[in-house]
Amino acid sequence: MENLKKHINEVQDFPREGIVFKDINPIYKEPKKWNELMMPLQRLISTINPDYIAGIESRGFISASALAFKLDVGFIPIRKPKKLPGKVIGVNYKLEYGEDRLEIQRNSIEKGSKIIVIDDLLATGGTARAAGTLIREAGGNLIGFAFLVELTELQGRDKLGTNIIIESLIKY
Ligand code: AMP
Repeated sequence: MENLKKHINEVQDFPREGIVFKDINPIYKEPKKWNELMMPLQRLISTINPDYIAGIESRGFISASALAFKLDVGFIPIRKPKKLPGKVIGVNYKLEYGEDRLEIQRNSIEKGSKIIVIDDLLATGGTARAAGTLIREAGGNLIGFAFLVELTELQGRDKLGTNIIIESLIKY
């Protein structure tokens, strides 16, 4: 896993000053490297056998939908506001600067369905925590979170709760 770090570009001051953006796109471009990165998640998901994989818009969709398709598991999108048709459930959450909101389609989850949430990167944990809240409010059984990258210094995983799986592949 550590050897894949050299294929993650660090972009200073993107999208805002002070953020060092971890750009994973070079890995997605190379199927062998992407497969190497995703292998532990494939194993994890096969073991826990969820009913659905939920992906967080938009970079979370890349791995979540790829895994869902490969492992024959349903995919549920968690989206930014005003993107989903019909009735939705929404959660507002704090960003470093300002607020944001995530939404899920009401009735998209059968009560008690086992769900794992996937995003590309865990930073402060606000986004993932909001996604987890949505899954629970929609009636799902949140079994855990998985991330390709974790910025451990920000201690985001502490926001995500206990007695659930919190997996990350590459740690900084
Ligand atoms: P947070 O809510 O602080 O955990 O931020 C996580 C979300 O913001 C994820 O959806 C990431 O795509 C994005 N993100 C935050 N920080 C970074 C970073 N340094 N590099 C790439 N993406 C980031």
